[in-house]
Amino acid sequence: MNLAQDGAAPGVNLNPLTCDREGGRGFDTAIDTSSDPSRDLSRDPYRDPHRINADLHCHSYFSDGTLAPSEVVARAHRNGVGLLALTDHDDVSGLSEAAAAAAELGIAFIPGVEISVSWGGETIHVVGLRIDPNDADLCAGLASVRSGRDARAREMGAQLARVGLTGAFEGAAALAGNPALVSRTHFARWLVERGTCTDVRAVFLKYLVPGRPGYVPHAWARLSEAVSWIAGAGGVAVLAHPARYKLGELALSALVEEFRNAGGLAIEVASGSHTRDQVRRFARLALAEGLEASRGSDFHSPLESHADLGFGPVLPDSVLPVWHRWV
Ligand SMILES: [Zn+2]
Ligand SMILES: [Zn+2]
Repeated sequence: MNLAQDGAAPGVNLNPLTCDREGGRGFDTAIDTSSDPSRDLSRDPYRDPHRINADLHCHSYFSDGTLAPSEVVARAHRNGVGLLALTDHDDVSGLSEAAAAAAELGIAFIPGVEISVSWGGETIHVVGLRIDPNDADLCAGLASVRSGRDARAREMGAQLARVGLTGAFEGAAALAGNPALVSRTHFARWLVERGTCTDVRAVFLKYLVPGRPGYVPHAWARLSEAVSWIAGAGGVAVLAHPARYKLGELALSALVEEFRNAGGLAIEVASGSHTRDQVRRFARLALAEGLEASRGSDFHSPLESHADLGFGPVLPDSVLPVWHRWV
């Protein structure tokens, strides 16, 4: 596979972005990236990673997104993304297509994945960036996480049938691009399609969260396992969208400490689902804990996502972007 795994990302595309939808800072216009590589890049303001529109968290239909990997890349390119990572849930099958599309369009690409973890009664997501998708231990770990999904999806279908929603598993499976990854989102889309609810969020609240008839608890990977699979595959582990977890201050601190002790390096300070206050809060946490910061839209679909590719909050200048090592 022609994945960008070696050396600095070549020809990082600093496409213009006139504004971001949260009203934050815009990005610089395109420059000549063929300049003399022997120059002192630390003095080159255009190499400032803060000036690059990086989107290091998004999904294709190889997990619960709706677009093909090549469509995700093309959309990111149109939106002015200069550095992109595809991070499908527990699966790396879309990376080769995305890498090929990125090479064609001249957009710097980082192979990624988002691993589901059970911690403290919550499902936590850990993004792995610049992984080797062929790493044997990573692939075996992801396969073990995926294997539990099928049984969970069938049980969700059985529970929904008990409240009168028959055929939910078959309906959700028909909407999944990857039969090994039938997720809650696919059930939600099916229930919207048949008119049970008006949108995906309403389905989650009514059927798919703890205490509701379609919710099936599941044991995902352990935090230390997920981080070690990522590190073992040469990648950087990032704690995804920390504002999404229903954890109090103390539990969140314990999570971050365990993540860091396991080898985690960064926290997703700027997520498409974060408010500006949450961006500031997690920037402070990253600085206090000595973690680098990442940014990602968590884009799934043109109609459902909080933020489009390349949009959403940007990182405050105070934090170190995790992609500094690749640009
Ligand atoms: Zn996630
Ligand atoms: Zn995600």
